[in-house]
Amino acid sequence: MTMARQPPTVAYFSMEVGLDNSVPTYSGGLGALAGDSLCAAADLGVPMVGVTLLHRKGYFRQHLDAKGNQTESPVEWSPADHMVLLKNRASVTIEGRQVWLQPWRFILSSQTGADVNVYFLDTAVAGNSDWDQTLTDYLYGGDSHYRLCQEAVLGLGGVAMLRELGYTDVAAYHMNEGHSALLTMALLAEEAKRSGAPVASKDNIEKVRDQCVFTTHTPVPAGIDKFPIPLVRQVLGPETVENLGLLECLFGETLNMTYLALFFARYINGVSMRHEQISHDMFPSYPINSISNGVHAVTWTSEPFRRLYDRYMPEWRLDNLYLRYVRSIPTQEIHQAHVAAKQSLLAEVKKRANIDLDPSVLTLGFARRMTAYKRADMLFSDLERLKKIAREAGPLQIIYAGKAHPNDGWGKDNIRKVFAAAEALKETIKVVFLEEYDLELATYLCSGVDLWLNTPQKPFEASGTSGMKAALNGVPSFSILDGWWVEGHLEGVTGWAIEDSMKESDLQKEVACLYDKLENVIVPMFYRQPDAYDEVMRSTIAINGSYFNAQRMIFQYLEHAYMPYH
Ligand SMILES: *Cc1c(COP(=O)(O)O)cnc(C)c1O
Repeated sequence: MTMARQPPTVAYFSMEVGLDNSVPTYSGGLGALAGDSLCAAADLGVPMVGVTLLHRKGYFRQHLDAKGNQTESPVEWSPADHMVLLKNRASVTIEGRQVWLQPWRFILSSQTGADVNVYFLDTAVAGNSDWDQTLTDYLYGGDSHYRLCQEAVLGLGGVAMLRELGYTDVAAYHMNEGHSALLTMALLAEEAKRSGAPVASKDNIEKVRDQCVFTTHTPVPAGIDKFPIPLVRQVLGPETVENLGLLECLFGETLNMTYLALFFARYINGVSMRHEQISHDMFPSYPINSISNGVHAVTWTSEPFRRLYDRYMPEWRLDNLYLRYVRSIPTQEIHQAHVAAKQSLLAEVKKRANIDLDPSVLTLGFARRMTAYKRADMLFSDLERLKKIAREAGPLQIIYAGKAHPNDGWGKDNIRKVFAAAEALKETIKVVFLEEYDLELATYLCSGVDLWLNTPQKPFEASGTSGMKAALNGVPSFSILDGWWVEGHLEGVTGWAIEDSMKESDLQKEVACLYDKLENVIVPMFYRQPDAYDEVMRSTIAINGSYFNAQRMIFQYLEHAYMPYH
């Protein structure tokens, strides 16, 4: 062969990827993490390729009425505005039909000049049945039949498309959550064809295992994808079911995507130290490691802080460790940069909701997917107490945002509760709920508030990343000690913990601690010791900004997961 050999590639598979605010192919933290990982890989010149679905109709557009009732409509966007449709075609067999896929290439250009290609798979190909053409329309839409078909497109179709595009030398297939676990079956079929040995032979399994990396993000058993065997037989065919049976990958009459990924991964990790422990209890027979999540530093740093860092430690963009040197920046300058970021946020609130917030008032932010365990309404457990704090300790204003999955009744209920509290508090505390939480709104919110609030029910927050985005902008967290905050928290230095004595959440104790610290520590410091508050902002950047970034995370994946034998 005379062809130049390309360096082995890391193939990063994710059901959702958030790369650009106008490419609505993500629902929340998982997609934002995938986007940030690909960006950091591009910066570092890591040969990586991304594989996901096109989601022509996006996740959904969120509409909220005056009471906070959410309704949804499809997102209208044009893939051709952001990516290029290639002529290549690959196919996957679903229910015995050959379903054709076409790839859209998104070129992710990095600040260092290296590119990463991300392929968005699309089944809206002439010749496919009308129904098959809808398979890549909705992210997390439809029933479990639709979902399994989508996972076949992502996992089986993704491997077929990589081959079609010439990716033959792949050092690692990274399954970002279990949705893409069927890729292991595609690799196994390839090995069986190559070796001539039976599909489920030990050698074939070992060869596949040697190539796969799995990151689990789900500390809630109910959050794991499981498909009943008859459905799997219908969609993937009797032969696949038989092979899965031989592999002992069918548990309790279901195909469990997490178990499938665990079975085939040579390296498995949770997304924080705490989540590693939880995953260990959930899957005791697997070796589980941890690589804590991180966010793409340049993306999530607001313009005023970018300028400040550029002036004092210009190396920070290429090497995020330099954020540690934020100690050389006088706190007054940190303060001024924050004032500017807060102004941009308040201008954005005015633009979106026509509400005037007061720049001198302590502003709390809470924005993420609205779902029961995130407990968006926890701050409003005792409205009289909250009013008393605002009247006596110092004024407050609060900004909320977040979408509930269309079928998540609890999540939708949480949004209504925030609206009801806003109404009840309106004479004392302004509470704003902004529609359509997305990457862009997240940049305003995480950088512009004075305090980032997070109240998940333990132990369900695998990591959380929005507090890391806040940290890059000097915004301290006030959070339940779960997920990344177990590692990022230093009391009074990087923020404050809401109750630290229990393993499991105890709502009563947590609520009491939330109000006590707000009343006695945080509000008084903000108004009466502003220098001390600025010092907290600075140490938040030094300690958490320098660490909880995607550059450090990708280095760790390289070291432990992608190229462990380099
Ligand atoms: C960062 C981000 C999230 C994740 O927020 P968590 O608090 O970690 O759950 C969700 N949605 C969007 C749009 C984000 O940018």
